[in-house]
Amino acid sequence: MSLLIKNARLVDGSGELGTADVLVAEGRIASLSGGDAARVVEAAGKVLAPALTDPHAHLRTPGQEVKEDLASGLRAAARGGYGAVLAMPNTDPVVQEPEQVQALLDEARKIPGARLFAAAALTRDQAGERLTPAALLAQAGASLLTDDGRTNEDAGVLARGLIYAGAAGLPVAVHAEDAGLRGGGVMNDGRLAAELGLSGNPHEAEAARVARDLEVLRYAVRKLEPLGRRPLLYFQHVSSARSVELIRAARAEGLPVCGEATPHHLTLSEDAWRDFDPLLKVAPPLRTTADVEALAGALEAGDLCAIGTDHAPHTRAEKERDLESAPFGIPSLEVAFALLYTELVAKRGLPLPVLIERMTSGPRRALGLEPARLEVGAPADLMLFDPGLERSVEPEKFISKARYSPWAGWRLSGWPLLTLVAGKEVWRDAAVA
Ligand SMILES: [Zn+2]
Repeated sequence: MSLLIKNARLVDGSGELGTADVLVAEGRIASLSGGDAARVVEAAGKVLAPALTDPHAHLRTPGQEVKEDLASGLRAAARGGYGAVLAMPNTDPVVQEPEQVQALLDEARKIPGARLFAAAALTRDQAGERLTPAALLAQAGASLLTDDGRTNEDAGVLARGLIYAGAAGLPVAVHAEDAGLRGGGVMNDGRLAAELGLSGNPHEAEAARVARDLEVLRYAVRKLEPLGRRPLLYFQHVSSARSVELIRAARAEGLPVCGEATPHHLTLSEDAWRDFDPLLKVAPPLRTTADVEALAGALEAGDLCAIGTDHAPHTRAEKERDLESAPFGIPSLEVAFALLYTELVAKRGLPLPVLIERMTSGPRRALGLEPARLEVGAPADLMLFDPGLERSVEPEKFISKARYSPWAGWRLSGWPLLTLVAGKEVWRDAAVA
């Protein structure tokens, strides 16, 4: 079915593109200058952007569907303006066989929601010892290899993983925390942790691992060079100013590295812990306001190249255990865009095209995909949002099974109203006629 989106302000990662009438037909952008359509959406005052890509979400399938499943996760993503989501493999069982990747991708195609990209484990059972078959996983359609949920303790295994994945054209994502240094820390190590009597996880646990992994990457680059290939190392959920400095220097040197920022590390600091809320428990932990500033600056400068939600749903009962035993993770697919639009663009002056870039082409480039552009012929994976529409975060209305949020009650603007995947509506807000 054809669709005409009239009078929309067009923004993609390359910049502001002016106001246009966008015709969608046969799954693609057919025209930027109007045309006949079966349906018309009046979009004056609203912004049309490429649908977002989330390079980091936990959809808990297979095996943990009590927390989330493909249908709830992909529909929640669509509601959040996402047209594609990369699902992490730390499920039960771990996603590590080519057949599992194919089965997930096949299953997701039946669901009216965001597209699914699948990550597979870097090592068998994510135990950090034996590598999974990178080339076969790539053939089966895996987009990235990672042991996320765990840290990669053995530098030799990570090095070989980067080399084999690089040879197969796959990026490797790492949860960079030194297990020994982080210990059993539940929040940022510092004065507040001491004051509250909680165990601390120091930012050095992350920075030490980032520094080591960059050396491992340098080695993998040298080994792959004769084959004409390059690895790509993707640091998930970067949380501290020091890690940002290390990544900036590595990028300046030309190393193939991308750092990710999350909505929670960009908008919350350890100070939120004064309420002793286990919903704030996340790994790596929320840091200081100076770290939040450094992350926002690095995002704008491009030293951090992507925003990943690290959407990590757990049951309410699990999250309401005591602080020491509650699981790590915050669900955010449905609020990420409005949250970052409000906090970074509206309040701090981050240029909107930069936010869009870090949530579309930035992650897509890391995954080896074409940048997302609003141009004739491009796939109609689109997101329409209203910068003027202000609403409170109401977790009880989430499509995600995790119906709680550290941002509950926050007044946000920029809510996604319409999400299209290949020209099909996968999310439509009641505010769209
Ligand atoms: Zn992680």
